[in-house]
Amino acid sequence: MSPRNFFIGGNWKMNGSVAQVKSLVEGLNSINVPAQTEVVVSPPAIYVDRVRNNLKKDIGVAAQNSYVKASGAFTGEISPEQLKDLGIDWVILGHSERREYFAESDKFVGEKTAHALKAGVNVIACIGEKLEEREANITSEVVTRQLKGVADEIKDWTNVVVAYEPVWAIGTGKVATPEQAEEVHVTLRNWLAANVSKEVAENVRIIYGGSVNAKNAAELATKPNIDGFLVGGASLKADDFNIIVQAR
Ligand code: PGA
Repeated sequence: MSPRNFFIGGNWKMNGSVAQVKSLVEGLNSINVPAQTEVVVSPPAIYVDRVRNNLKKDIGVAAQNSYVKASGAFTGEISPEQLKDLGIDWVILGHSERREYFAESDKFVGEKTAHALKAGVNVIACIGEKLEEREANITSEVVTRQLKGVADEIKDWTNVVVAYEPVWAIGTGKVATPEQAEEVHVTLRNWLAANVSKEVAENVRIIYGGSVNAKNAAELATKPNIDGFLVGGASLKADDFNIIVQAR
């Protein structure tokens, strides 16, 4: 079995209301978090504080974005220092929706990662190819280029989880096969071994995201290089999310 602890992230995206958040947190509070499994949920920014205050402490909380400055005239942005101030230990950076709709570049994602780590906030760094890139057989080039964007800005990978999320699998119900995901995870680990260090390649957790659900999680979890999941839609139902948490 892998020496790396299993990691399950729930990405709520821009979903939820006060009432829905309350009932989801109640459901999550009854989840039994297995030993050697880390669970982190990521509500929209406006609910982060509420969730942290009401969720049991063996489940972590992540923001869905943070900026590259500690404070100042940056209307609409949130700093990792502010997250830390609220007891928020994680942030998702570089999600494909941010890259696509908010034009975040590889370099910017790398810079945000470096700044969050410096502020003491752990990072779930997302990468993944689009359908046309997979069809053009450039998946490896795309994901290693995105990973390099992070590697160029940081030295210590201890508090980074890499999330491989093929864009064609996100929210489409079209999950990558365990073999497809494993193949990319191995590519990423090999790239890290060659370009960062063997130690980082061995220790960094690489999780898979894209249409993970209660039915397909267990099979994906059998692959040696899949260290967990970043779950979107299925993280909005505590029962389904619980099954995914227990997948390994
Ligand atoms: P999905 O989203 O599980 O709804 O496909 C995953 C993600 O975007 O993190």
